[in-house]
Amino acid sequence: MKLENLGVRGSTAAPGAEFARYGGHTSCVAITADGADQPTLVLDAGTGLRSLTRILAGASYDGAIVLSHLHWDHVQGLPFFAAGDRDDARVDLYLPAQDGRSGRDLLAQTLSPPAFPITPEGLRGRWGFHAVEAGEHRIEGFTVRTVDIAHKGGRTYGIRVEDDHGSIAYLPDHAPAAGVSDELLELLSGVDVLLHDAQFLEGERPVAVDYGHATVQDAVSLGLRSGAGTLVLFHHSPARTDAALDEIAEWAPALGGGMRVVVAREGDTYEVATGPSPAASASSV
Ligand SMILES: [Zn+2]
Ligand SMILES: [Zn+2]
Repeated sequence: MKLENLGVRGSTAAPGAEFARYGGHTSCVAITADGADQPTLVLDAGTGLRSLTRILAGASYDGAIVLSHLHWDHVQGLPFFAAGDRDDARVDLYLPAQDGRSGRDLLAQTLSPPAFPITPEGLRGRWGFHAVEAGEHRIEGFTVRTVDIAHKGGRTYGIRVEDDHGSIAYLPDHAPAAGVSDELLELLSGVDVLLHDAQFLEGERPVAVDYGHATVQDAVSLGLRSGAGTLVLFHHSPARTDAALDEIAEWAPALGGGMRVVVAREGDTYEVATGPSPAASASSV
């Protein structure tokens, strides 16, 4: 499968010249199956989702979106996803089940007046809203496994996506310092590419704990425990400038030993396959 970073920020979008190289959009990645020419699986619907309309080049979206959780920075792209908001689109949206409520009602808590002009029914095309439990799911031909992970405010999933050739894990918002379950370690075991929360630095640990996030070092430690092939530092603080991310890209790889460590950048793509190292190759597009 191929994975493309459409948004790599956390919390809120970061526009401006100081953020242009790594990109200012909030969390969203698109996955294209082997042999397919367009993405059919999207993880999270941050503002980066808008870029998928450009990638689809006039076609409507026909696929799924899996949300790690419902915080604003992971859903705000939804109503601005033009390729999904049209009569000939089909979008199956999966989100963490909670409070015994339907997927539609959980989404409507943020997507309805007075918070927003429309309700979920206002999205054109065939939309399905599915509240899913943790476990294994078959979505768009991929095996998608979800487990509960530590974050703050509502249920949050860590997500693993596999095809016959490789695996990725996606944990954009995660506080490993609050405890890592055996279930999570199993989910991450031997993953080819791990995209992980790296919003903070060690000097900012009190804020990381307060907000339920990880530091770069937390992400590296978890990647090493998991035996990940490549760790992608993801969900950057909206205050982290390009220059500050360049600095992280200088020192963080040395912490990884045999694990490749890269700083997520909007537009980067990864061909994901198990095999001789490097397990994944990145290129900027
Ligand atoms: Zn977030
Ligand atoms: Zn969050």
